[in-house]
Amino acid sequence: MEDLKNRVALVTGGSRGIGAAVAIALAKAGAAVAVNYRERADAANAVCAEIAGMGRKAVAVRADVSVATDVKRMVAEVEAQLGAIDILVNNAGIAHPRKMDEITEAEWDEVLTINLKSVFLVTQTVIGGMRQRKWGRVINMSSVAAQTGGAVGAHYAASKAGIIGLTHSCASSFVRDGITVNAIAPALIETDMVTSNPNASPTLIPMGHFGSTDDIASVVVMLALNDYMTGQTISVNGGWYMT
Ligand code: NAP
Repeated sequence: MEDLKNRVALVTGGSRGIGAAVAIALAKAGAAVAVNYRERADAANAVCAEIAGMGRKAVAVRADVSVATDVKRMVAEVEAQLGAIDILVNNAGIAHPRKMDEITEAEWDEVLTINLKSVFLVTQTVIGGMRQRKWGRVINMSSVAAQTGGAVGAHYAASKAGIIGLTHSCASSFVRDGITVNAIAPALIETDMVTSNPNASPTLIPMGHFGSTDDIASVVVMLALNDYMTGQTISVNGGWYMT
C-alpha cells in the first residue's frame, strides 16, 4: 500500500514506543518520515535505518518539542531535508506516576509543558503551510487518562484532556482548509512508559492484556488516509473506556 506516497510526515517522539511504530507504519504506507527525539539519537537513527531499508526517505531530528526555538529549528530542518510537512503526529510525551498529594509544582509544569504545550507549539509552526497547500493531517496522542483519570496521575490526566480540547479547537478552525485534526486515546500499550509504571497492570484492561504499538500505528495510518473524519477522539484501549 502506497497511498501516502509523496507525503511528508513528522512524528514527535518517534525514537521509541508508539512513535517508532507510527513512523515505520507511515513509511510503509508510502510517506517520507522525520523522526523527532529528545535524547536517544541511536534509537531514532535505528528507526530511520529501518525506514531507509524500505526505500523511503527518513531523517532523525533532535528537538525538545516543549521549547519554541527547538520546534522552529526542527520544522525548518525537516522542510529543508524532506519538503513541506503534510502529516503531523504529536506523539512525544512523558509520565511521572504520582499520587495527587505528591505532585510538585515543578512536576506539574514539566508534564503540562512537554505533553500539552508542545502540541500547541508544533501545530502552530506547521499549520500555516498546511493551510496554504489546502491539505493536512494532525494526529494528537491523548490517553485514556483524559477519559477515566488513568494510571499515572492528575498532572498527566490534565495534560491529555487538554489535548482533546486543543484537538477540537484546531479541527473546527481548519475544517475548511483541507486539514483534519484528530486525537487517539490509547491504553495500555506495552512501551517503556507503561512497563516502568508500577500502577499500570493488565488487570486494568478488560481484555486482560496490554496493547501493541502496532494497534496504535494502524489507527494513525487510517486517520492519515481519511478525508472526512475530524475533531474525533479514537479510543484504542482494550475496552477500558467505552463512549
Ligand atoms: P515512550 O516509550 O516513553 O516514548 C516517549 C517518546 O517521547 C520518546 O521517543 C522520547 O524521546 C520522546 N520525548 C519525550 N519527551 C520529549 C520532548 N520533550 N521532546 C521530544 N521528544 C520527547 O512513550 P510511549 O508509551 O510510546 O508514548 C507515546 C505517547 O503516547 C505519549 O504522548 C504518551 O503519553 C501517549 N500514551 C501512551 C500510552 C501507553 O500505554 N504507552 C497510553 C496513552 C497515551 P527519547 O527517546 O529521545 O527520550
